[in-house]
Amino acid sequence: MILIIAEKPSVASELAKVVGAHKKEQGFFSGKEYLVSWCVGHLIELAKPEQYDESLKSWKLDTLPIIPSVYQTQVCYNTSSQYHILKTLMNRSDVNELIEATDAGREGELIFRLVYHQVECKKTFRRLWISSMEEKSILDGMASLKDSANYDNLYQAAFCRQRADWLIGINLTRLYSTMYNTTLTCGRVQTPTVQMIVAREREIKQFTPQTYYTISACFETFKASCKAETKQLATQILADCNTSTAVVIKSEKQQKTELPTPLYDLTALQRDANRLLGYSAQQTLDYLQKLYDNKLATYPRTDSRYITKDQTESVKRLLDTLLSSGIFKTLVSKNYSTENVKISQIVNNKKVTDHHAILPTTSITPEKFQQLPSGEKNIFLLIAYRLFSAVYLPHQYFSSKLVLDIAGYSFSASGREDIQEGFQFVEHELKKALNLSQSKTESESYSHLPPLVEGSSLTISKMFCEEKKTKPPISYTEDTLLKAMETAGKKIDDSSLQDIAKTCGLGTPATRAGIIENIIKTGYIRREGKKLLPTETAYTFIDIVDQTIKDPILTAEWEKQLAEIQSGTLSADCFMQNISQFIQSLVQKTKQSYADNPNHSIFQKCGIAVCPKCGKQVLEYPKSYSCESGKNGCGFVIWKQISQKNISQTQAVKLISKGKTDLIKGFISKNGKPFDAYLVFKEDKTIGFQFP
Ligand SMILES: [Zn+2]
Repeated sequence: MILIIAEKPSVASELAKVVGAHKKEQGFFSGKEYLVSWCVGHLIELAKPEQYDESLKSWKLDTLPIIPSVYQTQVCYNTSSQYHILKTLMNRSDVNELIEATDAGREGELIFRLVYHQVECKKTFRRLWISSMEEKSILDGMASLKDSANYDNLYQAAFCRQRADWLIGINLTRLYSTMYNTTLTCGRVQTPTVQMIVAREREIKQFTPQTYYTISACFETFKASCKAETKQLATQILADCNTSTAVVIKSEKQQKTELPTPLYDLTALQRDANRLLGYSAQQTLDYLQKLYDNKLATYPRTDSRYITKDQTESVKRLLDTLLSSGIFKTLVSKNYSTENVKISQIVNNKKVTDHHAILPTTSITPEKFQQLPSGEKNIFLLIAYRLFSAVYLPHQYFSSKLVLDIAGYSFSASGREDIQEGFQFVEHELKKALNLSQSKTESESYSHLPPLVEGSSLTISKMFCEEKKTKPPISYTEDTLLKAMETAGKKIDDSSLQDIAKTCGLGTPATRAGIIENIIKTGYIRREGKKLLPTETAYTFIDIVDQTIKDPILTAEWEKQLAEIQSGTLSADCFMQNISQFIQSLVQKTKQSYADNPNHSIFQKCGIAVCPKCGKQVLEYPKSYSCESGKNGCGFVIWKQISQKNISQTQAVKLISKGKTDLIKGFISKNGKPFDAYLVFKEDKTIGFQFP
């Protein structure tokens, strides 16, 4: 018998169908020569410090750092029954070969190997490495199973990642929490992420807007403007120009071509879904994972935005299937045609490593599409329209620039004129399909400049002056934070630099959503609308934590080394040795500097408002804004989530100080119906709805 082990039950059941293992048994499927079973994510974890030594259970400074010489693993308690089923199956005497069918990536590799080692299994195994759960991919993958040794380095990289994270997490969380007498979670990726958000908010707080002036000269069909630093100068320019004519100094018109945006990798999809639909990175990953499990999308955790050359024919068929499915009727009715499609635009063998870009699949039908829950439906639309757009015609336009001289001052204007809308047409159709309001397209917001001869003069119809202020940076949203994590805080906004940035990012596409959720759960960051804002704890924590731990460059460097382990150019031992030494010296140094200057009380919480029931402070907690008097006190509490809607700190403060919030939109009733309401206090200071 051959035992196939998948990462999740849903995948196992698909695999079982395809290989003909139709009989459902306790924790596995059987049939033909196959047994098909599954993990439930990670079944094995690194042992806690107290497993090495009972005395390490309590957090003490003098037991730090904790650096095991041999790392122990243990079976996760909650899923231990599935582990024991796998153990029994692996040890069955009639099982002579295994197939590793966990997700094709670093984490998937680790999930299988840890179980394999925990069982102390010695049977040979081969790797099923597929990017899609469609029957054809599974069959192709089963027909070309890979030698497990090909993935040994990937496993080493995964195991190093896990151990390094354990070292940082255990040692630094204990170190800072013990010193400051409050829970201060530390993480290799999460701490630099918190630092970026804190730094951005400080930039915003410290920003002083500069006043400047623009002076505009209006002509028949366009306007030109110049800038002045002071009001005095602006008034002077206005006065000087009033009776003058304008002379054309320079008139340029250039034809420009903008190529379509490439296909989605996970991060790009998460960013767009956040920007357009307000989804968190985790929600997007969850929706996409469901689509993948149901064979409607390809592998989610990819960092490639291209396909390989040998996929050209199948993508052509995919396009035909989608266009004739009836789901994209409006696109077809507006003459979207495969005649204008160039698949070669999305082909780049060098930019595909383990997985190609995210694609929809041919399994979609109008019935399946209609039955999708709205989140999955929207994500499906995003990836399908992105395919239509990425292979479509480029956007072509004329870009014109004009420089005028008015009374010795230089005025300029720029304009744009579409020649061919190209792929932008597909993007407009996507917004319609998602019921999003159409913002002005880029070219609509530009004026058309008339053709003008250099040296000719123009009559000014009107002049005016506007006072403007420079704008502060903008708070992070999940969209912009994902981008910042991908480029590790470097201010790179050029998509052509993404290859360099990829080697020095914070986290991986697969882990970023989880990291964002985690810094919210651990109380460093809170959501306010789309914004991600630091809590008071985060500000103070970032001030005391060691520079090396909050600097994105360090973890980016580690991520680069993990990639080197994966490609076989760096040994796992060497990496672990470096990390251990790093932890050792960091812990010593931090303990010493704290001993020189102890400060236990800087994390004492400051309240967000005064308790309306008893007058003590209302503090922010992970799940609520509550009175500091605690459970045996007055009992005042505002839950952070009410009828599935997150209540921001601003609204909580309004409710406490004014007795009523602003109108809050998007509560969901118990029957699943959305509604809008104000939150108000009832007489006993519990919270009720008031309807508009
Ligand atoms: Zn109270």
